[in-house]
Amino acid sequence: MAKLRGPHLSTPLTLLGSDRDALLRGDEGILDPGEDARYLVSRAGAVALHEDEDGTLHAVLETEDPRGGTLQPLVLLGRRDGYRVLAVEVPEPSPELDDPGRDLRDLRRVADRLHDRDADLAAAAVAMGFWHRSMRHCPQCGTVLEAEMAGWVLRCPEDGIEQFPRTDPAVIMAVRDGQDRLLLARNAHFPSGFHSVLAGFVEPGESLENAVAREVGEEVGITVEEVEYVGSQPWPFPRSLMLGYRAWAPGADALTLQDEEIAEARWFSREELAAALEAEEIQLPGAASMGRALIDDWYGRSAER
Ligand SMILES: [Zn+2]
Repeated sequence: MAKLRGPHLSTPLTLLGSDRDALLRGDEGILDPGEDARYLVSRAGAVALHEDEDGTLHAVLETEDPRGGTLQPLVLLGRRDGYRVLAVEVPEPSPELDDPGRDLRDLRRVADRLHDRDADLAAAAVAMGFWHRSMRHCPQCGTVLEAEMAGWVLRCPEDGIEQFPRTDPAVIMAVRDGQDRLLLARNAHFPSGFHSVLAGFVEPGESLENAVAREVGEEVGITVEEVEYVGSQPWPFPRSLMLGYRAWAPGADALTLQDEEIAEARWFSREELAAALEAEEIQLPGAASMGRALIDDWYGRSAER
């Protein structure tokens, strides 16, 4: 299939460029300052990056602890080139904490230009940043939680209950009919012209395959007969994991659109998609997304205008 760019795990693990070193998380002093400490700053889905002459973006690993006097938790992302890489989620803009030279870029918008080596680091920094922002109090008793295990566990000092970072699985599927046409739809929340493949969250107690079939049935009223897993991509906005599927609905008849969810949906042959792109009638998701990778996989090449 088309190579997934940006934050994903479908490439060989050697491309990720860092070791999470999860076994070190319990070590004393693992978050302490030191010559081997490097800091990656994030804020609400944006991460500190720098752009090289080619336009490729790289994670900025700062040498000074950027927290000033604040108590923002640190998270050990892992080790790279002998350095401990520590993520820091900084709060809303403040003159005290903002280094004027720091360039925080929204990862969702720039993921396709991110160097492969930094994809895992940036996705993990953003995901952990969102988690530390949202999980402050014990869900049982409301006490302020304390970070442990290098930022990967939050424990309640009153009752000892531990919280762990969560990932929400979502399926995303390229549905084909008996003529090998691809189903593209416009979600009611998407701007006019914007089409993609169908997607939805996995419900509790449901298998991934059943989630694919259920979502397709609910959204466009057709029956999927076969599904095939393609690959996954972390989508940490704030905490999804996209699980990509090819799906076949050979007996598909008329589409019945779910009123509030799907504004438009239709089958495209490859020629029809080429013509619609050429005429600028439709727009597809960005190059870094799993949705686009699935469309390109069916199309046989990059579906660019
Ligand atoms: Zn508690």
